[in-house]
Amino acid sequence: MTDETHPVPSDPSHGFSLEYAPAPESTSVVTIADDYGLFIDGEFVEPRSDQMFPTVSPSAETHLANVAAASAADVDLAVGAARRSHTDVWGSMPGRERAKYLYRIARQLQERAREFAVLETLDGGKPIKESRDVDIPLAAAHFFYYAGWADKLEYAFPGRSVSPRGVAGQIIPWNFPMLMLAWKVAPALAAGNTVVLKPAETTPLTALLFAQLLQDVGLPPGVVNIVTGAGATGAALVDHPDVDKLAFTGSTAVGKQIQRAALARGVPVTLELGGKAAHIVFEDAAIDQAIEGVINGIYFNQGHVCCAGSRLLVQESIAEPFVEKLKRRLATVRVGDPLDKNTDVGAINSSQQLAKITELVEVGVAEGAELFQPDCVLPDSGWFFRPTILTNVQQTHRIAREEVFGPVLSVLTFRTPEEAVAKANNTPYGLSAGIWTEKGSKILWMADQLKAGVVWANTYNQFDPTSPFGGYKESGFGREGGLHGLAPYLSVGPMGGQIR
Ligand code: NAP
Ligand code: MG
Repeated sequence: MTDETHPVPSDPSHGFSLEYAPAPESTSVVTIADDYGLFIDGEFVEPRSDQMFPTVSPSAETHLANVAAASAADVDLAVGAARRSHTDVWGSMPGRERAKYLYRIARQLQERAREFAVLETLDGGKPIKESRDVDIPLAAAHFFYYAGWADKLEYAFPGRSVSPRGVAGQIIPWNFPMLMLAWKVAPALAAGNTVVLKPAETTPLTALLFAQLLQDVGLPPGVVNIVTGAGATGAALVDHPDVDKLAFTGSTAVGKQIQRAALARGVPVTLELGGKAAHIVFEDAAIDQAIEGVINGIYFNQGHVCCAGSRLLVQESIAEPFVEKLKRRLATVRVGDPLDKNTDVGAINSSQQLAKITELVEVGVAEGAELFQPDCVLPDSGWFFRPTILTNVQQTHRIAREEVFGPVLSVLTFRTPEEAVAKANNTPYGLSAGIWTEKGSKILWMADQLKAGVVWANTYNQFDPTSPFGGYKESGFGREGGLHGLAPYLSVGPMGGQIR
């Protein structure tokens, strides 16, 4: 739908261009070592495994550093340090003292925010404007928020006895490395647990910078231990007999393995897994705002987002003009160097992820979907994927059912609210959903019907440390954020108990 008042901006025949001059963020604020050891008992130590692995920049395909691969023996050392630290120091420290450390961590994260943001973008490929304005500020906010609870657990669970579980084993993915670290570490420490954390293989560097920050703030040794490595390191942590609580964010397939292992040992576990969210737009929605919401919902962080609005359900009566408008808007999205401050969509995190996205889109087209990609120029090096809209998508298509975890939107239509609910819930996942309508009653009715842990109305991708986040069905169980995120790190006793 091009017209004279709304020409396609990327079309050179209209005589103007939206080209921006380069605005690269400086990397001088970041120092990357050649090699990184494991962070165990407050020190960086050589791995017993003697094995290292490289981490690279997804946007330049350049080597950044070698990082230690923790073996089961290394994980055992880390769990031992966490246990000692819990028994001797952290588990019995008054909440008001623990809070001081958490506030210090939060303030340091704010002070060093630029360093963390640049490193996050270098190692993971996400746009600097997102790591700078979302990931790092939200990570600091989580530490501030849970610092506030550390000395108020009696108000969090009134009349109940609460005590820390002990040593928490935590495993996180590569899409929000620092933010997922904060979601895990902040509530665990506030509740009096010690931690062994395994970052993702492709994005370990900000967790290692965080370890340096912990040394700077004087956190007692062993309270937080960071064991880098691949899946085998995560499995060793899951299988360690002295871990008291497991928390995992990642894929549903690995989550199921972890659940089996945790159940076998009787260890409490929380799982934050994948998603296939429906983003539902009614004909009475504020259309321009909905367009922005849908764009943000799927192209934020290259679509490497568990709660990404990857299925657009648009009411049939407005489907055609809405999709046309969406395509025009997509043509103005800037794809490229993630360190450039104007970039909207950065690099795909790894070549494997790029191959998975490419394959699923090809399957979608082979199954009958219609492909739209703006004619943007991708950088010569690095892993990039054009933001994509697939129309004519049927509910049975793999592209409508499987998590792509990339910048790919599948468009389906509906006629009635009941049909929207049926289609939205027709997925094994249940993490998030979005609703766009001007009718408040419709929002409330829909939110009640949708089987999703988070439902956003007339907005999308809003995150706040006070608000619980988590899924149903194959999206996992347990909540992170808010009081709900604190509870899994505590043994909560009967009414009338004492606070430790
Ligand atoms: P993944 O392959 O499951 O990996 C997640 C973490 O588990 C990584 O640290 C990984 O190590 C480790 N791991 C792999 N195999 C393991 C095993 N057998 N035992 C223990 N740990 C193991 O997932 P991913 O591809 O990194 O992350 C993407 C997924 O995370 C998506 O499905 C996304 O939806 C989900 N996610 C969910 C949320 C949420 O809050 N619900 C938030 C963000 C992401 P390696 O890095 O070495 O593979
Ligand atoms: Mg990397």
